[in-house]
Amino acid sequence: MALRKIVTQGDDCLTKVCRPVTAFNRRLYDLLDDMTETLKDAGGAGLAAPQVGILRRICIVMDEPTGEYYELINPEIIKQSGEQSGLEGCLSVPGKWGIVSRPQFVTVRAMDRHGEWFELDGEDLLARTLCHELEHLDGHLYTEHIDHFLSDEELEEYLEQENQENNGE
Ligand code: ZN
Repeated sequence: MALRKIVTQGDDCLTKVCRPVTAFNRRLYDLLDDMTETLKDAGGAGLAAPQVGILRRICIVMDEPTGEYYELINPEIIKQSGEQSGLEGCLSVPGKWGIVSRPQFVTVRAMDRHGEWFELDGEDLLARTLCHELEHLDGHLYTEHIDHFLSDEELEEYLEQENQENNGE
């Protein structure tokens, strides 16, 4: 396994529509392993193949409460409902944050590394991560959904408020 270089906003890879994966072989397994290692190293919640310069429909998402990593190949959202608004960042837009509106629940249909279809339900943060990562596969960034990046003060305020809400439960 090896760490891959994460490209940042301005790189052409981030604006392209990625092609489906058709070959389920050693090369794919190596890419998936590398992507998971790269994501863990970067401390993010998700990573899409175009972020490491590969224009294929692949992403890795982490389910924060369980710490489990999911490999999603040729994923598509087949169900979504509700709405949430929350903080979002991207490993390809380092050090910046914005508030993005996303569905509260999504169901994704994807293939595993052996080409078998499965479904993954996501709520809250996982739903947000799934929407964010799948958008990457069509060349879109979360920055298209925000009117501004949060200032340091706004970010601090947001995190403080979130802290209080969590403690109040
Ligand atoms: Zn991203």
